[in-house]
Amino acid sequence: MLEDFLPAPRIAYFSMEIALRAEIPSYSGGLGVLAGDTMRTAADLELPMVAVSLVSRRGYFRQAIDAQGRQVEHPDPWQPERFATPLEAKITVPCEGRRIWVGGWLYVLEAHPGGRQPVILLDTDLEENSAPDREITHHLYGGDDAYRLKQEIVLGIGGVRMLQALGFEVSHYHMNEGHSALLTLELLRRNAYPADAVAPGEPQYDVPRVREACNFTTHTPVEAGHDKFSYGLVAGMLDGYFDVSILKAFAGQDRLNMTRLALSLSDYVNGVARRHAETSRRLFPGYRVRAITNGVHSLAWTSPGFVALYDKYLPGWCHEPELLARADRVPDDAVWAAHVEAKNKLIALVKDRTGVSLRPDVPILGFARRMTGYKRPDLLFSDLQRLKAIAARLPLQIVLAGKAHPCDEAGKRLIEALHARMRDLDGSIAIAYLQNYDMALARTIVAGADVWLNTPLRPLEASGTSGMKAAFNGVPSLSVLDGWWIEGCIEGVTGWAVGDAEVSRNDDDAIALYHKLEEVVLPLYRRQPRSDWIAVMKGAICKNASYFSSHRMMRRYVTEAYIR
Ligand SMILES: *Cc1c(COP(=O)(O)O)cnc(C)c1O
Repeated sequence: MLEDFLPAPRIAYFSMEIALRAEIPSYSGGLGVLAGDTMRTAADLELPMVAVSLVSRRGYFRQAIDAQGRQVEHPDPWQPERFATPLEAKITVPCEGRRIWVGGWLYVLEAHPGGRQPVILLDTDLEENSAPDREITHHLYGGDDAYRLKQEIVLGIGGVRMLQALGFEVSHYHMNEGHSALLTLELLRRNAYPADAVAPGEPQYDVPRVREACNFTTHTPVEAGHDKFSYGLVAGMLDGYFDVSILKAFAGQDRLNMTRLALSLSDYVNGVARRHAETSRRLFPGYRVRAITNGVHSLAWTSPGFVALYDKYLPGWCHEPELLARADRVPDDAVWAAHVEAKNKLIALVKDRTGVSLRPDVPILGFARRMTGYKRPDLLFSDLQRLKAIAARLPLQIVLAGKAHPCDEAGKRLIEALHARMRDLDGSIAIAYLQNYDMALARTIVAGADVWLNTPLRPLEASGTSGMKAAFNGVPSLSVLDGWWIEGCIEGVTGWAVGDAEVSRNDDDAIALYHKLEEVVLPLYRRQPRSDWIAVMKGAICKNASYFSSHRMMRRYVTEAYIR
């Protein structure tokens, strides 16, 4: 099976996490879903790519929520042998003066029209390794700095070595976020000038050649969000492999900054939305940061009702989502029927999982994403009297979901706070919190909600993709103008903006949110006949889904980053 993928040179796509399917918990959220959608699209378009990630045998975590509304984290193991084929090749990576053996698995991602893509999942759980080393690839985003650095050694250095051992010829290396940036060190070593040819003070490596082979996509608009390691830790692990004094020139003087390393050694660098690229240029002056706005995979995120509808009226839409620009030709009642089908499915799931009864005739606001401070899941609940007064006049219901990273104490407190607000609003507004947000749940929630709510603190949402998924299902966004929504929002046509200021203030944004809900969104939902509301649903499809697809995104990566 591996042989099928070897003849032609491939673009190697490196990502710490990748969402291959709901049963494989090798992802935590948006970054992994993007990696999965990237490879799903590569399969559809039959692009010559190969993905490299970690096997994460114990998964991220399975979320439960106790009676007090506190997140409880359970292991979420999976068996690679159920879905993937073991690789025969094994390689080693240097670490703390010893060698760590790395094996792996081949997962083949199959596209609906027949394309296939290889995904290599690296695994250190081998007999050759000591017990602690066997666990390096177990826990996604688990452990301390030392554990994380070992994972990044396996991913970056091990990934390059594994591809070579398997016989892949690689034309470009694409780093999806900085976690895999150590691959540049392996490439520098492979492009070292012979020692006797280097005069003192001259560069030891053919840096331009390495830069030419590397692409880097940054995802984090805040300095604190970038992976950094102390050089003490780095030297302890990579001594004898790479000279730390040379590394500092690429990765920063104080600490090894993985983003800076990737920036220094990539010819093509991009942010994931226009605004995010601007923010990144300010964070890292002197680097050229372009913008390729994210997109989502057409078929993966569209509910069965809308798939049938698009197949009927816009055949070929899966492969060419641009065709959705003509969704205005789909009859209103067919759009509404497809939505009702998805909404009923969500209502049934909520009833089944939480016991909460939602009504089909009352609008559902959906909010589901990683629970963390800057996403402000509590913004909607900042003035309960106001929210109650609105709901008394214009009934609404709310569906929430999301995990907090186990170390994100503030995120966990938000989950508790949301549960407290749910109790406060008991009897006034029906609210459900669905546990263990994952790909499968996302599919149901983004399609079944009536309005997709997004309230991040500007400019911290690099892109955001769940609103794009909603658009494929005719669900308009009500969102702060940040990330993709700056490009996607046409007021009253594709959805609605919350606030317009450049800088977010909680009070102002909450007031703007209540105002927009009360004056615009909820009254429009109730207006009869329903054609004005359906016009916005169609606006989301025609003007957002047609553009914010991973097919458009990948065509840009190919023509601008991969073919240079
Ligand atoms: C799409 C998705 C995300 C990302 O949502 P954002 O709106 O970008 O934060 C996170 N988790 C899961 C499971 C998803 O499907």
